[in-house]
Amino acid sequence: MSKIGETTLQLDLTALEHNFRYLRAKIAPTTKFLAVVKAFAYGSDMVAIAQKMEQLGADYLAVAYAKEGSLLRDAGIKTPILVLHPLPANFDEIIDRCLEPSLYSKKILTEFLDVAKAKNQKGYPVHIKFNTGLNRLGFNETDIDFVAEQLTDKKEIKVTSLFSHLAASEDMDEKPFSLNQINTFKKISQKLIQKLGYAPMRHMLNTSGIINYPEAQFEMVRSGIGLYGYGNDAGVDSQLKPIASLKTIISQIHHIEAHETVGYNRAFTSESSRKTATLPLGHADGIGRQYGNGKASVLIHGKQAPIIGNVCMDMIMVDVTGIDCKEGDEAIVFGQNKSAEDFAAGAKTISYEILTAISQRVKREIIAS
Ligand SMILES: *Cc1c(COP(=O)(O)O)cnc(C)c1O
Repeated sequence: MSKIGETTLQLDLTALEHNFRYLRAKIAPTTKFLAVVKAFAYGSDMVAIAQKMEQLGADYLAVAYAKEGSLLRDAGIKTPILVLHPLPANFDEIIDRCLEPSLYSKKILTEFLDVAKAKNQKGYPVHIKFNTGLNRLGFNETDIDFVAEQLTDKKEIKVTSLFSHLAASEDMDEKPFSLNQINTFKKISQKLIQKLGYAPMRHMLNTSGIINYPEAQFEMVRSGIGLYGYGNDAGVDSQLKPIASLKTIISQIHHIEAHETVGYNRAFTSESSRKTATLPLGHADGIGRQYGNGKASVLIHGKQAPIIGNVCMDMIMVDVTGIDCKEGDEAIVFGQNKSAEDFAAGAKTISYEILTAISQRVKREIIAS
């Protein structure tokens, strides 16, 4: 892998392809695949990932918000884009940029219909989201008649898919709950399809759903975290390859004596003489305060160097006592040999959070291993 000169998030598109093929192989060849690229493709590089997924033949892309979809259209992405969480203020943009909204409530459905009418749309593709237990976004089962009434004889929009989302697809203790969600979704979609008189695609599985409930793949699946190399399960993780490696270099080495302190608020006090390294990344790069004071480590020449003291805005200090290292040497925050899941676990959080936290200040570098 290439050498870095500053804090860099290296993105391995070969690993992305591997993960896509692994997940693809878990479902039927006829099942469509939606790649979730919201939140800068889980903190990586939304355009580069979307381009690669388009090239690999993903059927759909999904973003959370309309502006993310517009960035993809600006970059020339042609694949259909589902906007998971549109707001009325985004409806004009959604239609202007050929983005496909998830319609999840009475207000959103009727207001989108009004905008589609005002913009003289015919058969504009929309997706209807149902709540089957997550209680986050979506129509309830009791709204089927309302939805059907709104959609019948409406020429402006056409339902491309019906979907729902599992609350605990990674947690097998919650299997009865997940199976109940799947059954509820089946029931809802059957009823609605009958009323509509045509059959939109159905989808409900995220990455862990693909792994744990392949029988509920319907006509499409939606994967995010798995594409980026994490599967919410050690067994699955071992089959996937993290695409993102966050690396930095040692800016300065200090030798401190016993009873000296390091960093703001003097949060670390040395018990013995220590060798410390200052690294050029901090809060503003996505390393939250919760990683400080020994909760997380970086890897330097294959050895764990714990973060000492408080995380600063632009820097962290790590303990490199006993590690043969010098200024300019590389430090790995997470990557292929140091899972983001492990780094996150130290601060009691999850891979999704640390990955999406890496800020736009950090240089992105595309590599193909
Ligand atoms: C983010 C998201 C996904 C992707 O979930 P992963 O666990 O990352 O695979 C799928 N569906 C919806 C509705 C989402 O919001």
